[in-house]
Amino acid sequence: MIAGLITDEHGKTLPDALGEVQRGLEVVEFACGAPQLLKGEHSHGIGGGIDHWAQRMPLGVVAGVTPFNFPFMVPMWMAPVAIACGNAFVLKPSERDPSPSLHIARLFAEAGLPAGVFSVIQGDKTAVDRLLEHPEIQAVSFVGSTPIARHVYETAARHGKRAQALGGAKNHLVVLPDADLDQAADGLIGAAYGSAGERCMAISVAVLVGDIADVVLEKVRARAATLRIGSGRTEGVDMGPLVTAAHRTRVLDYIDSGVAEGARLLLDGRHNLPSACAGGFFVGPTLFDEVRPEMRIYQEEIFGPVLCVVRVRTLREAVELVNRHPLGNGVSLYTRDGGAAQAFCREIQAGMVGVNVPIPVPLAWHSFGGWKQSLFGDHHAYGEEGVRFYTRYKSIMQRWPEGDAKGPEFVMPVNG
Ligand code: NAD
Repeated sequence: MIAGLITDEHGKTLPDALGEVQRGLEVVEFACGAPQLLKGEHSHGIGGGIDHWAQRMPLGVVAGVTPFNFPFMVPMWMAPVAIACGNAFVLKPSERDPSPSLHIARLFAEAGLPAGVFSVIQGDKTAVDRLLEHPEIQAVSFVGSTPIARHVYETAARHGKRAQALGGAKNHLVVLPDADLDQAADGLIGAAYGSAGERCMAISVAVLVGDIADVVLEKVRARAATLRIGSGRTEGVDMGPLVTAAHRTRVLDYIDSGVAEGARLLLDGRHNLPSACAGGFFVGPTLFDEVRPEMRIYQEEIFGPVLCVVRVRTLREAVELVNRHPLGNGVSLYTRDGGAAQAFCREIQAGMVGVNVPIPVPLAWHSFGGWKQSLFGDHHAYGEEGVRFYTRYKSIMQRWPEGDAKGPEFVMPVNG
């Protein structure tokens, strides 16, 4: 039911939507451990008959603003943790696929959640800005593009709210010459073209090190050319349409700009789509070679099925390239060299790192988030970071004195 709603409004394939639902439900499982997560700390008899404990308290009413590309999973990164921590949660989903959020509300109500603990407000910028200014909203979680993430973080902070704002991405996958090149090519294809590239953890840049570029490119080009494109409801389809006509136009503009800036187009998703795609918002898999860092297709997030290849000579050059990019969500390395992988994990500036894993999305028991302009705020989403975000710390010292009052104390209390 939920996966069907996602496929119908977003366009991704049904198996992909089912995967999204599964990843969202895992956060519910994590949140069921709230008694363990919230149990606090206790120090008995810290001095003068005083017991000391610290506990995490709810914030009150908190809001979540979510993107179109995961209309179930991203709200579930937030709401279960916020509610399990004792807060009421207001969700403002994307206006481009609003139905899954209403279905979540129905399921919460059926499960017996009291009215008002989970609410949904539909709308766009106007609704978001109202939440950011509202005096009763204590904290805002946002997931979406970087310019809006910055706006949400700054506006929420100006209104005295706690904020975590996860932004856009330009994820690189680095392939070293010693890697299994078939595995690397498969990793690139799934991560670049899955969900038509509309994933914040999609790989949009392949960094090919040394003299392997021609071999890897040929593997990727040949396999990508055979991907099946069509309705997300059709069995066997690999890639559905983009979310709206406007988004399709935006992606096509980027492909035009890549050609104009001199990148070598090896696979052109603008043309030769199956006849069943006519009139839809489809773009086929697109592959650019000889992309340079100053090009718009390298610098900006395209959020479509477009893979840019940058050729470099060494791993050091690859690390420097990745680290110079202003976005730092995820990154991946393909290699058989443990030492190189260790150095890469240490030096790379991104929040989520994969080694021979193309899309390193943390499980619900860990936390999700990027670095640099991929996240504004101190806390990553869900996991224990989520618990910290949706609670505040209270330290309590308690004494039950016996006997008569001893008079005021004028020195700093110390133990002993
Ligand atoms: P978006 O930034 O356009 O919209 C996100 C949310 O903000 C929506 O609810 C939208 O209604 C609202 N919004 C849009 N314009 C606004 C404005 N001017 N003021 C206030 N609110 C506004 O993002 P999108 O197109 O829905 O989603 C795709 C983007 O989300 C991509 O950049 C992708 O990388 C990013 N994303 C990031 C993560 C992550 O974890 N970092 C996860 C998923 C998606």
